[in-house]
Amino acid sequence: MRVVNRSDLVFRLFLGLLIGLGVGVMSVFGTETGWLPGFIALAAFLFVAMRRPLRRWRAARSSLPPGATEWLERHIRLYRRLDAAGRRRFDTDVRILLQEWVFEGVGDLEVTDTLRLGVAGAAALLLHGRPDWEFPHRQTVLFYPDAFDDDYTVESEGEFEGMAHEQGPVILSVKAIEDSWTGGEDGWNVVLHELAHLLDYGTEFAAGVPSLVDPRSVVAWQSLVRKEMLRIRRRRSILDRYGGDDPAEFFAVAVESFFEQPDLMEERHPELFAALEALFRMDPRTGRPPAARLTG
Ligand SMILES: [Zn+2]
Repeated sequence: MRVVNRSDLVFRLFLGLLIGLGVGVMSVFGTETGWLPGFIALAAFLFVAMRRPLRRWRAARSSLPPGATEWLERHIRLYRRLDAAGRRRFDTDVRILLQEWVFEGVGDLEVTDTLRLGVAGAAALLLHGRPDWEFPHRQTVLFYPDAFDDDYTVESEGEFEGMAHEQGPVILSVKAIEDSWTGGEDGWNVVLHELAHLLDYGTEFAAGVPSLVDPRSVVAWQSLVRKEMLRIRRRRSILDRYGGDDPAEFFAVAVESFFEQPDLMEERHPELFAALEALFRMDPRTGRPPAARLTG
Protein backbone atom coordinates (compact mmCIF):
# COMPACT_ATOMS: atom_id res chain seq x y z
CA MET A 1 0.00 0.00 0.00
CA ARG A 2 1.21 3.47 -0.72
CA VAL A 3 1.05 6.08 2.03
CA VAL A 4 1.22 8.81 -0.59
CA ASN A 5 0.13 8.11 -4.13
CA ARG A 6 2.08 10.82 -5.93
CA SER A 7 0.28 10.66 -9.28
CA ASP A 8 -3.13 10.76 -7.56
CA LEU A 9 -1.99 13.72 -5.44
CA VAL A 10 -0.67 15.63 -8.46
CA PHE A 11 -3.93 14.92 -10.32
CA ARG A 12 -6.02 16.26 -7.41
CA LEU A 13 -3.88 19.41 -7.14
CA PHE A 14 -4.00 19.96 -10.89
CA LEU A 15 -7.80 19.55 -10.95
CA GLY A 16 -8.18 21.95 -8.01
CA LEU A 17 -6.01 24.59 -9.73
CA LEU A 18 -7.97 24.16 -12.96
CA ILE A 19 -11.31 24.62 -11.17
CA GLY A 20 -9.97 27.59 -9.17
CA LEU A 21 -8.57 29.18 -12.33
CA GLY A 22 -11.86 28.65 -14.22
CA VAL A 23 -13.98 30.15 -11.47
CA GLY A 24 -11.43 32.98 -10.99
CA VAL A 25 -11.38 33.92 -14.69
CA MET A 26 -15.21 33.92 -14.84
CA SER A 27 -15.45 36.13 -11.77
CA VAL A 28 -12.71 38.56 -12.95
CA PHE A 29 -14.53 39.17 -16.23
CA GLY A 30 -18.12 38.75 -15.03
CA THR A 31 -18.20 40.30 -11.56
CA GLU A 32 -16.40 42.82 -9.43
CA THR A 33 -15.20 40.33 -6.87
CA GLY A 34 -11.88 39.69 -8.65
CA TRP A 35 -10.06 36.39 -8.06
CA LEU A 36 -11.60 35.78 -4.64
CA PRO A 37 -14.27 33.21 -5.82
CA GLY A 38 -11.49 31.32 -7.61
CA PHE A 39 -9.46 31.07 -4.38
CA ILE A 40 -12.58 30.01 -2.47
CA ALA A 41 -13.35 27.31 -5.09
CA LEU A 42 -9.74 26.07 -4.95
CA ALA A 43 -9.78 25.95 -1.13
CA ALA A 44 -13.17 24.15 -1.04
CA PHE A 45 -12.03 21.58 -3.62
CA LEU A 46 -8.75 20.89 -1.82
CA PHE A 47 -10.53 20.61 1.53
CA VAL A 48 -12.69 17.78 0.14
CA ALA A 49 -10.15 16.16 -2.20
CA MET A 50 -7.27 16.05 0.28
CA ARG A 51 -9.22 14.55 3.18
CA ARG A 52 -8.58 10.93 2.18
CA PRO A 53 -4.83 11.29 1.45
CA LEU A 54 -4.43 13.21 4.72
CA ARG A 55 -6.34 10.52 6.63
CA ARG A 56 -4.00 7.86 5.25
CA TRP A 57 -0.92 9.94 6.03
CA ARG A 58 -2.11 10.26 9.64
CA ALA A 59 -3.01 6.53 9.78
CA ALA A 60 0.51 5.61 8.66
CA ARG A 61 1.86 7.58 11.62
CA SER A 62 -0.52 6.15 14.22
CA SER A 63 0.73 3.75 16.89
CA LEU A 64 0.38 0.01 16.69
CA PRO A 65 -1.72 -1.46 19.52
CA PRO A 66 0.29 -2.67 22.54
CA GLY A 67 1.74 -6.12 21.94
CA ALA A 68 1.16 -5.93 18.16
CA THR A 69 4.80 -6.57 17.21
CA GLU A 70 4.91 -9.62 19.48
CA TRP A 71 1.65 -10.94 17.99
CA LEU A 72 2.92 -10.51 14.43
CA GLU A 73 6.25 -12.17 15.28
CA ARG A 74 4.55 -15.11 16.91
CA HIS A 75 1.93 -15.76 14.22
CA ILE A 76 3.24 -14.57 10.86
CA ARG A 77 6.34 -16.41 9.74
CA LEU A 78 7.21 -13.91 7.02
CA TYR A 79 7.19 -11.07 9.58
CA ARG A 80 9.89 -12.83 11.62
CA ARG A 81 12.11 -13.00 8.55
CA LEU A 82 11.77 -9.43 7.31
CA ASP A 83 14.66 -7.01 7.60
CA ALA A 84 14.19 -3.63 9.31
CA ALA A 85 12.94 -1.89 6.16
CA GLY A 86 10.53 -4.74 5.37
CA ARG A 87 9.17 -4.63 8.90
CA ARG A 88 8.68 -0.88 8.76
CA ARG A 89 6.64 -1.26 5.57
CA PHE A 90 4.66 -4.20 6.98
CA ASP A 91 3.92 -2.20 10.18
CA THR A 92 2.80 0.81 8.15
CA ASP A 93 0.38 -1.36 6.15
CA VAL A 94 -1.03 -2.80 9.40
CA ARG A 95 -1.44 0.71 10.87
CA ILE A 96 -3.28 1.93 7.75
CA LEU A 97 -5.57 -1.11 7.66
CA LEU A 98 -6.35 -0.83 11.38
CA GLN A 99 -7.32 2.81 10.92
CA GLU A 100 -9.14 2.64 7.59
CA TRP A 101 -11.11 -0.59 7.91
CA VAL A 102 -14.24 -0.87 10.03
CA PHE A 103 -14.23 -3.78 12.49
CA GLU A 104 -17.53 -4.74 14.11
CA GLY A 105 -18.74 -7.62 16.26
CA VAL A 106 -22.26 -9.05 16.07
CA GLY A 107 -24.32 -8.86 19.23
CA ASP A 108 -22.21 -8.17 22.28
CA LEU A 109 -19.04 -9.68 20.83
CA GLU A 110 -16.04 -7.62 21.90
CA VAL A 111 -13.72 -6.65 19.06
CA THR A 112 -10.23 -7.00 20.53
CA ASP A 113 -6.90 -5.75 19.18
CA THR A 114 -5.94 -9.39 18.59
CA LEU A 115 -8.93 -9.90 16.29
CA ARG A 116 -8.17 -6.70 14.39
CA LEU A 117 -4.52 -7.76 14.06
CA GLY A 118 -5.56 -11.21 12.88
CA VAL A 119 -7.20 -9.56 9.89
CA ALA A 120 -4.90 -6.56 9.28
CA GLY A 121 -1.82 -8.82 9.56
CA ALA A 122 -3.23 -11.16 6.89
CA ALA A 123 -4.04 -8.24 4.58
CA ALA A 124 -0.55 -6.77 5.03
CA LEU A 125 0.94 -10.20 4.29
CA LEU A 126 -0.99 -10.50 1.00
CA LEU A 127 0.01 -7.00 -0.10
CA HIS A 128 3.64 -7.08 1.02
CA GLY A 129 5.13 -7.80 -2.40
CA ARG A 130 2.64 -5.54 -4.21
CA PRO A 131 2.75 -2.02 -2.76
CA ASP A 132 0.70 -0.98 -5.82
CA TRP A 133 -2.28 -3.10 -4.73
CA GLU A 134 -5.10 -1.91 -2.52
CA PHE A 135 -7.98 -3.62 -0.81
CA PRO A 136 -11.32 -1.77 -0.87
CA HIS A 137 -11.05 1.41 1.15
CA ARG A 138 -13.16 1.42 4.36
CA GLN A 139 -13.74 -2.36 4.10
CA THR A 140 -16.06 -3.60 6.85
CA VAL A 141 -15.09 -6.78 8.71
CA LEU A 142 -17.83 -8.39 10.75
CA PHE A 143 -16.90 -10.83 13.51
CA TYR A 144 -19.19 -13.72 14.41
CA PRO A 145 -18.46 -15.75 17.56
CA ASP A 146 -18.55 -19.09 15.72
CA ALA A 147 -19.48 -20.74 12.41
CA PHE A 148 -22.73 -19.65 10.75
CA ASP A 149 -25.36 -20.86 8.30
CA ASP A 150 -26.35 -19.34 4.98
CA ASP A 151 -29.03 -17.31 6.80
CA TYR A 152 -26.19 -15.85 8.96
CA THR A 153 -27.37 -17.64 12.10
CA VAL A 154 -24.57 -18.73 14.39
CA GLU A 155 -24.66 -22.53 14.71
CA SER A 156 -22.10 -24.85 16.23
CA GLU A 157 -22.60 -27.04 13.14
CA GLY A 158 -22.69 -23.99 10.83
CA GLU A 159 -21.49 -24.44 7.30
CA PHE A 160 -19.39 -21.26 7.01
CA GLU A 161 -16.33 -20.06 8.90
CA GLY A 162 -16.01 -16.96 6.78
CA MET A 163 -17.58 -15.22 3.83
CA ALA A 164 -16.54 -12.35 1.55
CA HIS A 165 -19.04 -10.18 -0.32
CA GLU A 166 -18.19 -8.18 -3.39
CA GLN A 167 -20.13 -5.13 -2.26
CA GLY A 168 -20.41 -5.86 1.44
CA PRO A 169 -18.59 -6.94 4.57
CA VAL A 170 -16.14 -9.76 5.07
CA ILE A 171 -17.61 -12.03 7.75
CA LEU A 172 -15.27 -14.10 9.89
CA SER A 173 -15.87 -16.50 12.74
CA VAL A 174 -13.75 -15.59 15.75
CA LYS A 175 -13.10 -19.23 16.49
CA ALA A 176 -11.90 -19.78 12.92
CA ILE A 177 -9.57 -16.75 13.11
CA GLU A 178 -8.02 -18.12 16.30
CA ASP A 179 -7.68 -21.62 14.80
CA SER A 180 -6.17 -20.17 11.61
CA TRP A 181 -3.35 -18.42 13.42
CA THR A 182 -2.70 -20.96 16.16
CA GLY A 183 -3.09 -24.10 14.05
CA GLY A 184 0.47 -24.01 12.74
CA GLU A 185 1.31 -24.11 9.07
CA ASP A 186 -1.35 -26.61 8.06
CA GLY A 187 -2.46 -24.87 4.87
CA TRP A 188 -5.73 -23.71 6.40
CA ASN A 189 -6.28 -20.03 7.14
CA VAL A 190 -9.79 -18.63 6.80
CA VAL A 191 -8.60 -15.01 6.97
CA LEU A 192 -6.19 -15.42 4.04
CA HIS A 193 -8.94 -17.34 2.21
CA GLU A 194 -11.60 -14.61 2.49
CA LEU A 195 -9.16 -11.78 1.76
CA ALA A 196 -8.00 -13.70 -1.34
CA HIS A 197 -11.63 -13.60 -2.51
CA LEU A 198 -11.59 -9.81 -2.01
CA LEU A 199 -8.55 -9.57 -4.32
CA ASP A 200 -10.43 -11.66 -6.89
CA TYR A 201 -13.50 -9.40 -6.93
CA GLY A 202 -13.91 -6.38 -9.10
CA THR A 203 -12.63 -8.13 -12.19
CA GLU A 204 -14.44 -8.86 -15.40
CA PHE A 205 -13.35 -12.48 -15.01
CA ALA A 206 -14.45 -12.77 -11.36
CA ALA A 207 -13.75 -16.46 -11.32
CA GLY A 208 -10.41 -17.21 -9.82
CA VAL A 209 -8.48 -14.74 -11.92
CA PRO A 210 -7.37 -11.94 -9.62
CA SER A 211 -8.14 -8.60 -11.16
CA LEU A 212 -4.48 -7.70 -11.24
CA VAL A 213 -3.18 -10.71 -13.15
CA ASP A 214 -1.26 -9.48 -16.15
CA PRO A 215 -3.77 -9.78 -19.04
CA ARG A 216 -1.06 -11.53 -21.10
CA SER A 217 -0.93 -14.31 -18.48
CA VAL A 218 -4.67 -14.90 -18.13
CA VAL A 219 -4.90 -17.81 -20.58
CA ALA A 220 -1.88 -19.56 -19.03
CA TRP A 221 -3.31 -18.97 -15.55
CA GLN A 222 -6.71 -20.43 -16.51
CA SER A 223 -5.07 -23.49 -18.04
CA LEU A 224 -2.96 -24.00 -14.89
CA VAL A 225 -6.09 -23.64 -12.71
CA ARG A 226 -7.95 -26.29 -14.75
CA LYS A 227 -5.01 -28.69 -14.42
CA GLU A 228 -4.63 -28.12 -10.67
CA MET A 229 -8.38 -28.43 -10.03
CA LEU A 230 -8.31 -31.79 -11.77
CA ARG A 231 -5.49 -32.87 -9.44
CA ILE A 232 -7.64 -31.91 -6.44
CA ARG A 233 -10.60 -33.94 -7.74
CA ARG A 234 -8.27 -36.90 -8.32
CA ARG A 235 -6.92 -36.50 -4.76
CA ARG A 236 -3.43 -35.85 -6.08
CA SER A 237 -3.06 -32.40 -4.59
CA ILE A 238 -2.01 -30.92 -1.27
CA LEU A 239 -4.81 -28.36 -1.66
CA ASP A 240 -8.08 -28.61 0.23
CA ARG A 241 -10.82 -30.45 -1.70
CA TYR A 242 -12.91 -27.29 -1.44
CA GLY A 243 -10.56 -25.81 -4.06
CA GLY A 244 -11.96 -28.23 -6.63
CA ASP A 245 -15.41 -26.56 -6.50
CA ASP A 246 -14.74 -23.67 -8.86
CA PRO A 247 -11.84 -21.42 -9.96
CA ALA A 248 -12.64 -18.73 -7.36
CA GLU A 249 -12.47 -21.25 -4.51
CA PHE A 250 -9.37 -22.75 -6.08
CA PHE A 251 -7.62 -19.37 -5.98
CA ALA A 252 -8.55 -18.76 -2.33
CA VAL A 253 -7.43 -22.25 -1.26
CA ALA A 254 -4.19 -21.96 -3.26
CA VAL A 255 -3.41 -18.63 -1.55
CA GLU A 256 -3.84 -20.25 1.87
CA SER A 257 -1.40 -22.99 0.96
CA PHE A 258 1.09 -20.63 -0.74
CA PHE A 259 1.53 -18.60 2.44
CA GLU A 260 1.12 -21.43 4.96
CA GLN A 261 3.03 -24.28 3.32
CA PRO A 262 5.38 -22.71 0.76
CA ASP A 263 8.00 -25.48 0.94
CA LEU A 264 5.44 -28.23 0.39
CA MET A 265 3.72 -26.31 -2.41
CA GLU A 266 7.00 -25.62 -4.18
CA GLU A 267 7.90 -29.30 -3.99
CA ARG A 268 4.52 -30.75 -5.02
CA HIS A 269 3.12 -27.95 -7.25
CA PRO A 270 6.17 -26.05 -8.61
CA GLU A 271 4.28 -24.50 -11.53
CA LEU A 272 1.50 -23.17 -9.29
CA PHE A 273 4.04 -21.95 -6.73
CA ALA A 274 5.93 -20.03 -9.43
CA ALA A 275 2.68 -18.51 -10.77
CA LEU A 276 1.68 -17.30 -7.31
CA GLU A 277 5.21 -16.00 -6.66
CA ALA A 278 4.92 -13.98 -9.86
CA LEU A 279 1.45 -12.74 -8.91
CA PHE A 280 2.33 -11.71 -5.35
CA ARG A 281 5.84 -10.71 -6.46
CA MET A 282 7.50 -12.36 -3.51
CA ASP A 283 8.76 -15.56 -2.06
CA PRO A 284 6.36 -16.01 0.89
CA ARG A 285 9.27 -17.30 3.00
CA THR A 286 11.43 -14.19 2.68
CA GLY A 287 9.25 -11.40 1.30
CA ARG A 288 11.84 -10.86 -1.42
CA PRO A 289 10.98 -10.80 -5.14
CA PRO A 290 11.35 -14.23 -6.82
CA ALA A 291 14.18 -12.99 -9.07
CA ALA A 292 16.18 -11.79 -6.04
CA ARG A 293 15.78 -15.26 -4.52
CA LEU A 294 17.40 -16.86 -7.55
CA THR A 295 20.41 -14.59 -7.38
CA GLY A 296 20.79 -15.10 -3.65
ZN1 LIG B 1 -14.19 -19.35 -0.45
